[in-house]
Amino acid sequence: MALTSWGQLPASPAAEERWWDERSAPLPEVGGTLLAYGNGRSYGDVCLNGGGTLLRGRGLWHFISFDPENGRLVCEAGVLLADILDVFVPRGWFLPVTPGTRFVTVGGAIANDVHGKNHHRAGTFGRHVRRFELLRSDGSRRVCSLTENAEWFAATIGGLGLTGLMTWAEIELRRIAGSGVAVENRRFTGIDEFFAINAEAEARHEYTVAWIDCLANTPRGILMAGDHAESGSLADVAKRPLSLPATPPISLVNGLTLRAFNFAYFHRPLPATAVVHYVPYFYPLDGILHWNRLYGRKGFYQYQCALPSGARDALGEILRGIAVSGQGSFLAVLKTFGEIPSPGLLSFPLPGMTLALDFSNSGSETLALFDRLDAIVGAAGGRLYPAKDARMSGRFFRGSNPRFDEFANFIDPKFSSDFWRRATA
Ligand SMILES: Cc1cc2nc3c(=O)[nH]c(=O)nc-3n(C[C@H](O)[C@H](O)[C@H](O)COP(=O)(O)OP(=O)(O)OC[C@H]3O[C@@H](n4cnc5c(N)ncnc54)[C@H](O)[C@@H]3O)c2cc1C
Repeated sequence: MALTSWGQLPASPAAEERWWDERSAPLPEVGGTLLAYGNGRSYGDVCLNGGGTLLRGRGLWHFISFDPENGRLVCEAGVLLADILDVFVPRGWFLPVTPGTRFVTVGGAIANDVHGKNHHRAGTFGRHVRRFELLRSDGSRRVCSLTENAEWFAATIGGLGLTGLMTWAEIELRRIAGSGVAVENRRFTGIDEFFAINAEAEARHEYTVAWIDCLANTPRGILMAGDHAESGSLADVAKRPLSLPATPPISLVNGLTLRAFNFAYFHRPLPATAVVHYVPYFYPLDGILHWNRLYGRKGFYQYQCALPSGARDALGEILRGIAVSGQGSFLAVLKTFGEIPSPGLLSFPLPGMTLALDFSNSGSETLALFDRLDAIVGAAGGRLYPAKDARMSGRFFRGSNPRFDEFANFIDPKFSSDFWRRATA
C-alpha cells in the first residue's frame, strides 16, 4: 500500500519507498527527488513526495546514549516519542514538549518543530534539541547546534524535511516524579471566559489546553490544566488501545453525530480535579488506533491556524464561520501560545493562540469554507500549520512566513515534497 499521511486524502502519484536504516551510508542516488518519511502523523502533504522517493526513517530506531546528570538523550531520528516514554518515564524522565500523539518520530518532531500543551512555559520541541546530524544529498554531514552550523540548525528545525535527512539528534528530557498528571477541569462559555480562566491557569499550571464545541452558537468548552503529579506512579489504563479495523465507505462524522457528541462531551460528569495517567491526558486520541478511518474513504482535512495575541475578534469570526457551516470535528482544540520564540526559520507558533480542528472532506464545500477562514487568518496576521495542511495556497504560505526567502537558501537541491511544490507554485 502506498504511504499516506494521517488525513488519508486521495493521494498524489505514489512515491517510491526506500527503507532507510544505515546511519553511516550516503543517501541513495535516485533520478527524481527525495524526502524523509517519519511515521506519517502529519495530516496533509508535508511528508509526501508523489512521483519521487520517500526514505522511510523508522529504520533509524536506536537509542545511542543517555546522561542521567542532565537528561540528555542521543537517539536515531526514527525513534518514536512513544519509545522514549516507555523507556524513560519509569526512570523519572519525560519529554520536554510533546504533541497530541506519541506516535511521531524524533525527526518528524524536529522537522515540524511541534508544540504541546506547555508552549507557554517551554516553547516548541526545537528549543530542547541540543544537536543533530544533517546528511545532505551531496554526501556531506553536518553536526548542527546553536553554536555549530547554527544557520543550518535554524533552517532544519521546522524545516519540513527539506534541508536533508537528520540521522540522529540529542534532546534534553525533563525530570518527573511519576507517571501521574494532576488535572484541573473547568467549563467555560464564551471566548472572553476562556481567555480569563486560561490566563489564570497558565500562571499556575505547566500544561493547559481547551476542548471547544465548534458548533455551539456561543462557543463553549472545557479547559484542562495539568502538572506532573508530585509522587507516585499509575497504571496505564490504555495499554491495549481499541482499533478501528477498516475505513467505512462514507464519513461517520456529520452534523448530526457532531452535535450529539459535542452536547454529551460538554455535559458529561467531570471531576474538578483528578490525578490521571499521562497517556490519557496527553494522548486521548491514541486510545483508538486508526481513528482517522472514521472519516471514510474521502479522508479529511485539519485546519490549524495561529493568530496573534490581539486577534480575539478574528478567533470569534472563525468560530462563527465554522458554526454556521455546520462542518467541524469532535475534538476541536483551542490553546494559547506563549512568548518564547521558536528556534526555526519556518516554525509555526507565534505569540497568541491556536485553533485546530478536523473537517470531513466534502469537496468544494469544505475548500470554500477554508478560503473564507484563510481570509480572516490572513487579515489578522496569522498563519496555518504546514504539518496539518493539504491545501493552502503558495501565496498564503509565503505571505505569512516572513523568513521564507532566507529558508529557501538551505533546501537540499535533491529534496522536495508535495507541500513544498504547492508552497512554491
Ligand atoms: C492525533 C494527532 C495529534 C497531533 N497533535 C499535535 C500537536 O499537539 N502539536 C503539533 O505540533 N503537532 C501535532 N500533530 C502533528 C504531528 O506531531 C506532526 O505532524 C509530526 O511532525 C509527525 O511526525 P512523524 O514522525 O509522523 O513525521 P511525518 O509526518 O512522517 O513527517 C513530518 C515531516 O518530518 C520530516 N522528517 C521526518 N523524519 C525526518 C528526518 N529523519 N530527517 C529530516 N526530516 C524528517 C518529513 O520529511 C516531513 O516533512 C498531531 C498529529 C496527530 C495525528
